[in-house]
Amino acid sequence: MRFSKYCPVCNSQNYETLINYKFRNPGNDFKNYLDDSINSRLWILFNKILSNNNSANFYITLCNSCGFIFLNPRFSEGEFKIKYSFLTEMKSVENILQKNPMYNLDIRAQRIYKLINKFYSQNSNFKPRILDYGGAGGHLLIPFKNKYKCYVVDYSKWKLPNGIEYLGKDLDHLEKEDSFDIIFLLHTLEHIINPKEFLDYLCKYLKNDGLIYVEVPLGCVREWRFLMEPLTHINFFSEESLFKLFTLCNLNVIHIDTSYQWVTHGKNWNINIIGTKCKEGNFINLNSIPATKAQMVNYYYIFQDLINIRNYSTKIKNIIKYLRDKLKNFNLN
Ligand SMILES: [Zn+2]
Repeated sequence: MRFSKYCPVCNSQNYETLINYKFRNPGNDFKNYLDDSINSRLWILFNKILSNNNSANFYITLCNSCGFIFLNPRFSEGEFKIKYSFLTEMKSVENILQKNPMYNLDIRAQRIYKLINKFYSQNSNFKPRILDYGGAGGHLLIPFKNKYKCYVVDYSKWKLPNGIEYLGKDLDHLEKEDSFDIIFLLHTLEHIINPKEFLDYLCKYLKNDGLIYVEVPLGCVREWRFLMEPLTHINFFSEESLFKLFTLCNLNVIHIDTSYQWVTHGKNWNINIIGTKCKEGNFINLNSIPATKAQMVNYYYIFQDLINIRNYSTKIKNIIKYLRDKLKNFNLN
């Protein structure tokens, strides 16, 4: 882990700390944590990445230039490889999904299908190529299957529906000219160490007249205030920071909004953005979207989140853990 002096989106050194967290080693018996997403990650952090430190400090940082909120220090690619290989070995994702399966997957798939159809007009002479990066079981591509050639790239190889092809763990073995008309990147950028570098890499495979659709949690409101562990979400986006990330990657924005929408287990606040490399068209202006500092204190999001009964037990657990850790920091135990 290394403390970054630069914003991982815009490279600015003009940032401030919003809050700091001290995480503690949960103990070394990982068998207790197989289906516990928080403690399994803390176990990996302290037992495999930090070699048995008892505690570690992390700072939630706000970039004053682009409005990006991020966790500092940053992990290295090697440390994240350790994380993913242990999660695979522990079958962590499978265990958690077995206990709490995803459902109503078609609601989300249909929402995205309708959104893409608004902005992408299909030429009947050829079947456009569509890639879901991190697309897991391929369920979001099901509505597209008949009219598109559908592909998934994912760290794990899932069983895919007929008509959807697995390309591998990443795009490194593809030819650069092997490009896509539409790329999806859903709930991935919040996990990525270098979001700017990563989006640049992915866009090499986007055709000039293609579209990239990105969805991330609205992290700038509640999530960074109640962080349970530092190994999963390390980036907390707002509309402003996501828009500026797109601009820095030479993408023009044709759609951006913040919606309370179904993901895999229920509804959450998410940012949806569509960009293109195309230089001409009706693009959204930065002045028409909220700044991070306005969005992070918007009581409308907070209120909607508070009345979300589905999350209540998790929310209370988060608050208790947060207060307990604060008390530990004052050495009251
Ligand atoms: Zn920045």
